[in-house]
Amino acid sequence: VNSKVNGKPVHLKGVTLYKVFENVAQKYDIMNDAMSLGIHRLWKDMLLHAMHPQPGARLLDVAGGTGDISFRFLEYVRSQRERQQRRAVRFGQTLSLQDISNSYSTIETDGPRESTAVVCDINKEMLKVGKEKAESLGITAGLSWVVGDAEELPFDDDQFDIYTIAFGIRNVTHIDQALQEALRVLKPGGRFMCLEFSKVTNPLLARLYDAYSFQIIPVLGEVIAGDWKSYQYLVESIRKFPSQEEFKSMIEDAGFYCVQYYNFTGGVVALHSGFKL
Ligand code: SAM
Repeated sequence: VNSKVNGKPVHLKGVTLYKVFENVAQKYDIMNDAMSLGIHRLWKDMLLHAMHPQPGARLLDVAGGTGDISFRFLEYVRSQRERQQRRAVRFGQTLSLQDISNSYSTIETDGPRESTAVVCDINKEMLKVGKEKAESLGITAGLSWVVGDAEELPFDDDQFDIYTIAFGIRNVTHIDQALQEALRVLKPGGRFMCLEFSKVTNPLLARLYDAYSFQIIPVLGEVIAGDWKSYQYLVESIRKFPSQEEFKSMIEDAGFYCVQYYNFTGGVVALHSGFKL
C-alpha cells in the first residue's frame, strides 16, 4: 500500500503502511492514550464542539480507524436531541422527538431522519477492533463500518453532511485526490473537517515536542506494543506533513470555501474546516 506522505517517501524500513496499522490495531487505543497523555481525547472532543452536529446529520469518518470520532458524533447528536426535547417540555410545548427531528429534516418529506455515521478505513484490522469496541460500549444504532480508500471512496456523490478525517490524511499518498473525493461525496453545504498533527508555533514548545516525539514515542511503541518501527514511521510522517497554511491552500485548491484552521495545543494539532457550496 502507500509508503509516501505528500509525495515524499517515508522510511518504513521494510514495513508497508498497511502493515503499520495492522500491527498497531490491537494496541492502537492504549498507545494513543500513552503517547498523547490522553490529550487526543480532548482534541477529538474539540472537533465535535466545533462541528456542533444537529440530529439528522450524516457523517462520513474517513480513516476512521477504531471509530473514536463516530462514537463522539453519535453521542453528541443524541445529547442534542435530548436537550432540545427537555427545552421544548420546559417551555410547555408538546413537541415530541419526532417533531424535533422533523424540524431538522426540512428537505426530507418522508419522516424524521436518524443521524448516521459511517466509519471508513483502508485497514480491516482497525475496523475490526473498532467494531468490537462499539459492541462493548453498546453503540451500534446508526453506525456502519466500510473498508475503503480515501483516494477512491466507495460512495455516491452528494451523500454526507459532514466529512471528517482525524489523524489520517498524512498517511494518504495523493492528498489532493482524497480532497477531491471528500468534495464529491459531500452534499452541497456539507462540511469538511480534518484533525491532523501540524507545525508547533512556539519555538520552545517545538524543541520539547521534537525531543519527545523522536526519543520517547518509539520507545513507548516498543515497550507497550513491541513495535519500534511503526511508531518511528508515525513520528516521521508527522514531520513531513504540510504546515497549517500550506494545507489550507490545498483544501482551497480542491474547491472548498470558507477554509479556516484552528491550532490546538500550540499547533501540535490543527483542525482545518471548509465547505462545499
Ligand atoms: N481516525 C482515527 C483516530 O483518530 O483515532 C484513526 C487514525 S489512525 C492514526 C490512521 C488511520 O488511517 C488508520 O486506521 C489507517 O488504516 C487509515 N488509513 C491510512 N491510509 C488510508 C487511506 N488511503 N484510506 C483510508 N484510510 C487510511
